[in-house]
Amino acid sequence: MTSVVCTLLRVNRSLDRLLLDCTVKSECLSFVGKVLPYLKARKMKLVSAFIASLAIMTVPFGASAQGYPTKSITLVVPFAAGGPTDIVARTLAANMSRTLGQTVVVENKAGAGGTIAGGFVAKAAPDGYTFLIHHNGMSTAPALYRKMAFNPMTDFEFVSQAVDVPMTLIGRKDLPAKNMQELTTYIKANAKKINLANAGLGAVSHLCGMLLQQALGVDLTTVPFSGTAPALNALLGGQVDILCDQTTQTTQHIKAGTVNLYGVTTKQRIRALPDAPTLTEGGLKDFEVIVWHGIYAPKGTPAANIEKFGSAVRTALKDPAFVARMADLGAEIVPDSKQTPEGLRTWLQSEIGKWGPVIKSAGVYAD
Ligand code: ASP
Repeated sequence: MTSVVCTLLRVNRSLDRLLLDCTVKSECLSFVGKVLPYLKARKMKLVSAFIASLAIMTVPFGASAQGYPTKSITLVVPFAAGGPTDIVARTLAANMSRTLGQTVVVENKAGAGGTIAGGFVAKAAPDGYTFLIHHNGMSTAPALYRKMAFNPMTDFEFVSQAVDVPMTLIGRKDLPAKNMQELTTYIKANAKKINLANAGLGAVSHLCGMLLQQALGVDLTTVPFSGTAPALNALLGGQVDILCDQTTQTTQHIKAGTVNLYGVTTKQRIRALPDAPTLTEGGLKDFEVIVWHGIYAPKGTPAANIEKFGSAVRTALKDPAFVARMADLGAEIVPDSKQTPEGLRTWLQSEIGKWGPVIKSAGVYAD
């Protein structure tokens, strides 16, 4: 079947540009050749008629978009710039820009534990120029928020998972507790005075902090920020006491000794911080939080654009420089089976199933 694909978004440009941006095959070329002189003579008046005629010829065959991408692509991060999710996004975006031949621009839309960004991308034009990178928060939000602007399972196309990142429990440098056992004693004696920072309800720092309070049987004062970049700044400045945060942000501060480290949230010690004990070693039995990342597009984004963007993600995930950078920050590339739309879809579904009942039975709501 003859196929004609035209980027109809070009209506605002001159007619010549519109024609250049059309990706056509066989008959369409001769069609364009025949109508071009006539159209040039009548220009914009006829643009809509011309588009209509192309639309009739266009075969909706699963939306291929040859030539994509023809302009920069936005990758939305649901938390503040400079934080751990942002660091993963920007490292990925730099690599993908080279593969795609167009800049992948990271845009931070922080707020409401990531649900502002989720709502924004769910409603963005489904044209392959807006994507979202989000973590576990995508799976906890439906239980935490009774009013949500989007449905994680039905309002997005799934692209791929990317990296898994452990968290660390850290404290301000001048806190007297220097290890997890000392922190446990200190928290139990001073629970009323301790501030636990997080990146808002639904952030993984919130989830990790909830598990910590549950494990210690205490109720701490939590201080929400728009991401853990400002939360860590507050901790370095001595305005908050403790924080759970990904190794992608905390590793450099742990190595520089500017914070107290109480443990990593994995079952085993990690290569990036071999001397760091696990929280389980520190007495918090079976304490485990791993931060996973998914990449999403608005529902209805052409399959060919998802495939092209996804394949640039996979290229980055196999690039030795990207892999090495992530390894230095404690992040691990997900297996190939998760680097697919289906891998992300089934994972998200199972995470929603896992966290929903836990959050609901705890009766915790963000709104
Ligand atoms: N680490 C943050 C969280 O707790 C997110 C961020 O700022 O990247 O979810």
